[in-house]
Amino acid sequence: MTTLIKDGTVVTATDMTRADVLIDGERIQAIGTGFGDADNVIDAAGRYVMPGGIDVHTHMELPFGGTFASDDFATGTAAAAWGGTTTIVDFAVQDYGHSLSEGLDNWLEKACPKSHIDFGLHLIVREISEPVLREMDVMIERGVPSFKLFMAYPGVFMLDDASIFRAMSRTADNGGLIMMHAENGGAIDVLVKRYLAEGKTAPVNHGLTRPSSMEGEATHRAIALAELAGVPVYIVHLSSRDALNAVREGRDRGVSAYAETCPQYLYLSLDDLARPGFEGAKFVCSPPLRPADHQAELWRGLVTDDLQVVSTDHCPFDYKDQKILGKDDFSAIPNGLPGVEDRYTLLWDGGVAAGHISPMRFVELIATAPARMFGLNPRKGTLAPGADADIVVFNPDTPRTLSAASQHMRVDYSCYEGREVRGCPEVVMQRGNVLVSDGQFHGQPGAGRFLERSRFGPGPGSG
Ligand SMILES: [Zn+2]
Repeated sequence: MTTLIKDGTVVTATDMTRADVLIDGERIQAIGTGFGDADNVIDAAGRYVMPGGIDVHTHMELPFGGTFASDDFATGTAAAAWGGTTTIVDFAVQDYGHSLSEGLDNWLEKACPKSHIDFGLHLIVREISEPVLREMDVMIERGVPSFKLFMAYPGVFMLDDASIFRAMSRTADNGGLIMMHAENGGAIDVLVKRYLAEGKTAPVNHGLTRPSSMEGEATHRAIALAELAGVPVYIVHLSSRDALNAVREGRDRGVSAYAETCPQYLYLSLDDLARPGFEGAKFVCSPPLRPADHQAELWRGLVTDDLQVVSTDHCPFDYKDQKILGKDDFSAIPNGLPGVEDRYTLLWDGGVAAGHISPMRFVELIATAPARMFGLNPRKGTLAPGADADIVVFNPDTPRTLSAASQHMRVDYSCYEGREVRGCPEVVMQRGNVLVSDGQFHGQPGAGRFLERSRFGPGPGSG
């Protein structure tokens, strides 16, 4: 079966041109003009035709603080598709005392029958030992070449510097990539206990006990350890100028330091955490939202390529019966925000329409760079002959109001309630199959495939 997307403006990370896209089966066959007829024709006049989004940081069904993230792989990937994202890379978790393989198998079991869209997995490594180090090689053979380590959450996820350095040294041999949650968990833990002892229990204290200097410190330390091991490192959910400065400084002296930021750090701030009553709990995530003056620097980082990726860290918890666990203790509020559905339009509206970045840079941040860094190219992340037909037909003029009432994520609030945006993914396609069109969802649980990813490859322009 062939599909022709006609008369749109085709955008890739390097080009923007008026052209038609011809799809044969699951792949793009050609981009150009004069293709004649096809089985299906999609009129894209006045629209942008762009790669499906790749969100390399999601947590469907993540167990956290005695509860689970409210989106499972069915609801979360449907919401992703509604928002223009056709591939996620989620995080499998190693349980204490268990192998990496068991963690991976657990997540495959959860995701395979449910996922509407293609997905890969990273592994969260909680314990480093000789067997675990050897198993990292096995994970890479199984298509999981990236490992997330934590410098925060003592007793839950945190690793010491020796363990981090041993894991990094292993990736020097096996070609894996270490992804780092960079916050100084030890110092933060002392502050948290002190604040609670002083009776400071409101949500805003979550932000005040995790100062940006402690993200900057950990980011600097992670990069120094990677430099010592002679490997690249990827800082996840970078939120502050302190951390960005550490990345910049590392890159300026030639270290392969990379980082992502997330929409919440570009659009929300400590003021949201400080909303009256308990409402700030809706905005509790780690690293926390920062004072608003950090935002302009993050935008600058996206422009200068000191930040290479925008992902979401999608990890939703219902306000009414999950965030409420921390009613009298901010440290018991489950950490995480919904976002997988909003990223594409938010970054277009606040990034391209607002004049911070070009449409080409948008595509690079949202699809092409994540595909390249996480071993999904050349099949994913761009529009080119032979690539998977993962395509978004995007209308940049459609006004919308973001709201819990209209979103598809399974969570009872929106961080962006009432925010007016322009832009709508009108048609969303995966491997030639239409997932969203005319405001209808056509996807199927289990239709998404597990993607075995290849090793890290920064590619040109990212060194
Ligand atoms: Zn995360």
